[in-house]
Amino acid sequence: SMASPALLMRVVASAYSVAEKAATIVRNVMAAGDLGIVEKTGANDLQTKADRLVQMSICASLARKFPKVTIIGEEELSSDEVTEELIEDGHCEEILKKTCPAQYTGIKEEELVIWVDPLDGTKEYTEGLLDHVTVLIGIAYGGKAIAGVINQPYYNYEAGADAVLGRTIWGVLGIGAFGFQLTEAPAGKHIIVTTRSHSSTLVNDCISALNPDSVIRVGGAGNKIIQLIEGKASAYVFASPGCKKWDTCAPEAILHAVGGKITDIHGNAFQYNKEVKHMNSAGVLATLRNYDYYASRIPNTVKQSLVP
Ligand code: AMP
Ligand code: MG
Ligand code: MG
Repeated sequence: SMASPALLMRVVASAYSVAEKAATIVRNVMAAGDLGIVEKTGANDLQTKADRLVQMSICASLARKFPKVTIIGEEELSSDEVTEELIEDGHCEEILKKTCPAQYTGIKEEELVIWVDPLDGTKEYTEGLLDHVTVLIGIAYGGKAIAGVINQPYYNYEAGADAVLGRTIWGVLGIGAFGFQLTEAPAGKHIIVTTRSHSSTLVNDCISALNPDSVIRVGGAGNKIIQLIEGKASAYVFASPGCKKWDTCAPEAILHAVGGKITDIHGNAFQYNKEVKHMNSAGVLATLRNYDYYASRIPNTVKQSLVP
């Protein structure tokens, strides 16, 4: 007899469709032209109408299907009724056809935590750097990021009218990651990807100490993990607080699903249980390959400045 798919696979399959709906909202808000920008803690910490609508859409859609799952979203929103047009109830059939890894088949709803960044790279979204933007849905179990969906609403937006706009990348530990072409960074080169809009002396000093061949400065944690898995950069280095659990959960699951590694700047794993502090106070270090090379070269002075 056909057993019904495991909860984890149903959550990932739904998150895939929910993220595609989110991408449509992100594009529609931009096309309508009124971003409704609000400063949260300051001019480099923004929220737009897209951040608000997408969070409502993702959280309400997943909560309706999986009422006992804990869902933590970046934005603080008034508890307005979510209009029915924001609800997505579809799922990706292809994901449901994959076999759930044995260690995850018994997971119950109350054991899952979903970390939602409705729009990662908001600053860049407001500046028209549209391919920096991603929608992040990360799924954690036992404090670990085990599955994730990254939607890039404006993938291909400069590739011409014939190109398909947008893409969805998804992954589960023990299954792998899909929706992109896994590519190694150029051998023997140290290409660092880091923040574009949240730099500091410490951020730059840390990068200099790694003696890189080149530095790519782009917005978004999701976007920077994409740079790693597509071979554009060899390490994501961010020696600063500022990144939160919803920024790293989905990217971590996808990076780990293809054999990469992400930690804080000290080498500590991130925890994703629902009680955890949101801020990744001790920065981010991530690679697809050669993690130890970069980790061993982070200066002690940098480490001492970043308390976990
Ligand atoms: P970035 O690489 O600057 O795009 O940052 C990655 C993620 O962390 C984005 O969601 C940023 O909004 C967030 N972030 C990093 N640094 C800060 C900061 N100093 N203040 C607020 N958010 C930050
Ligand atoms: Mg973010
Ligand atoms: Mg965000």
